[in-house]
Amino acid sequence: MIKRMERILIIEDEEKIARFVELELTYEGYDVEKAFNGRDGLALATTHPFDLILLDILLPGLNGMEVLRRIRKASDLPVIMLTARDAVVDKVTGLDGGADDYITKPFAIEELLARIRAVLRKKRDPHHQPGQNLLLAGSLQLDPEKREVTVHDSLLDLTKREFDLLHFLLANKNIVLSRETLLQEIWGYDFSGETNAVDVYIRYLRAKIEEPFGLKLIHTVRGVGYVIKDEHP
Ligand code: CA
Repeated sequence: MIKRMERILIIEDEEKIARFVELELTYEGYDVEKAFNGRDGLALATTHPFDLILLDILLPGLNGMEVLRRIRKASDLPVIMLTARDAVVDKVTGLDGGADDYITKPFAIEELLARIRAVLRKKRDPHHQPGQNLLLAGSLQLDPEKREVTVHDSLLDLTKREFDLLHFLLANKNIVLSRETLLQEIWGYDFSGETNAVDVYIRYLRAKIEEPFGLKLIHTVRGVGYVIKDEHP
């Protein structure tokens, strides 16, 4: 299935922040444009098709609230406001003004990505309920929106790669996945022969999700690869 790249516009006058966010979003597969002031941002937003806008509030020329107000006259395009730390008034006026969400600077990029995913998902499927996409295997639970993994009620600390690998295994529960497939899906490249990385990461996962809880979820299929199943006591 070919997925169209989603387009995001960053309107942010702090160029370092704008460039950093652009880099991260591009890495995540989004198509990114940026504007360093309110007027340029508004001009882009009203003339180009974007899926989402990241909008700073304190901007030279035309401030973020005014940009939001003018965007809202024409469209219900998702907008996430970037606000200064503890500026409660900004958050309230931003949400009143029709922003879909806000994030306080400085923010962790993972949090921004999670909010972007949530807002885009809501746009694609307005009837979506949070928690609807939980993936389960036995007492293991993975929430793709929050990027959280829990066993019973313990929240586990997984790296991005471990999370992505577990996510893919769970999305294909009961299906045997070859090392080559896993490598290609998670690491994103063909790798003839050297499929060691998969085994190493499966070991990391087992040490985090199985061993501490006495679970057996990930099964090795000799000569082929791995499969995740519900546990059978
Ligand atoms: Ca600013």
